[in-house]
Amino acid sequence: MFKVVYLKPSKERPILQRHHWVFSGAVKKYPKDFENGEMLQVRSSHNRVLGHGYFNTNTSIAGRMINFSDTDPYLSINESIENAIKLRYTLFENDNETNSYRLINGEGDFLPGLIVDRYNDVLVVQVSTLGMERIKVLIIDKLVKMLSRKFNLRLVYEKSTMTSRKTEGLAIFEGVLWSKGNVEKEHLFVNINENGHKFEIDLENSHKTGFYLDQREMRKLIAQFSQKKDLLNMFSYTGGFSVYAAKQGATVTSVDISKGVVEQAQRNFKLNNIDIDNHKFVSMDAFEYLASVKKIAADIVILDPPAFAKKRDDEDNAIKGYKKLNSMALQKMKPGTMLLTCSCSYYVDEATFKKTIIEAGRIAKREIQILHTHIHAPDHVLNIYHPELDYLKSLLVFVR
Ligand code: SAH
Repeated sequence: MFKVVYLKPSKERPILQRHHWVFSGAVKKYPKDFENGEMLQVRSSHNRVLGHGYFNTNTSIAGRMINFSDTDPYLSINESIENAIKLRYTLFENDNETNSYRLINGEGDFLPGLIVDRYNDVLVVQVSTLGMERIKVLIIDKLVKMLSRKFNLRLVYEKSTMTSRKTEGLAIFEGVLWSKGNVEKEHLFVNINENGHKFEIDLENSHKTGFYLDQREMRKLIAQFSQKKDLLNMFSYTGGFSVYAAKQGATVTSVDISKGVVEQAQRNFKLNNIDIDNHKFVSMDAFEYLASVKKIAADIVILDPPAFAKKRDDEDNAIKGYKKLNSMALQKMKPGTMLLTCSCSYYVDEATFKKTIIEAGRIAKREIQILHTHIHAPDHVLNIYHPELDYLKSLLVFVR
């Protein structure tokens, strides 16, 4: 039924261990008339069926497994979608509290190449591979059928803006995939709830899929410590941490290089009935901001920069960047305050990040105690046999 791709002898181990990627060097023989992006049956050199996956000869990750059995992969896709949705219903029971979360997390939900985030009555889709692009329509159809009533779905919007799509043979794409009615400009905004806080997502002018849902648990943690505190939120984006803290009575300074997101942060304060006149909003480079202040007055400082390492070769420079940023902040922080420092660079692993913060502490000559490590957002489910999705790390430290 499906054409067969054979793996080289001794290269089937990762697949037997349920890792989803087949590297190009592991492929012994593609079938005749194979087209990039096509779904294939995967067999070992001994002709044993290992599962099914889609393949692309243009990328170093040539294959991405959809299942590890002889079951029809399209049945497995349906099952994976159903399981992913069921799990989110278990995790999030009250829409008035939180109605926005990652619904499908790529390999974490056994659907490589696909991210789907729910933002209230809107789904935002991100497709990173050609193989997934070819089956996207099937998946969207299924999602709309399953969720239309439950979420009162009005829009499915794609934001596939990753430059990595180029090697897959895909152009960047952003636009409407499905809608209930006509789509006017104003429909490209959606209001969401997160732990009882409100945020507006501007679907067109936002990063990634719209909001950094992966920091939800950390925002909740910071809220716990924020009562009547002074908080400096560096790389604030649309004010996620800021709104949580301000709601607890903190006085917040939000700093981000992008003017647009700082304005969005102000709108988000207003949505939560917070008087923006009591808070500061600065659109400025974070390094320049830190250099420009003599002392940091804040009781809590948050450093949540964009990924400094976007590819493996960037690792050394990224480490330098984290060291500089963190040592600058630590040098200027008051004794008895907290720093939440984060890295979303996949290529800087947890141990390396921790070591970098230790070095930043030495440079700043501060006593530092770890209070918390990252609290993973459960909707960003991880597949234990496929650790590559685990990119975000945080340390909440006490600075003496
Ligand atoms: N903590 C945020 C997410 C931060 S994303 C949240 O919970 O929503 C990283 C942010 O850093 C982006 O908004 C980006 O505009 C900003 N940024 C990137 N480079 C910057 C720089 N040099 N100085 C300040 N902000 C920067």
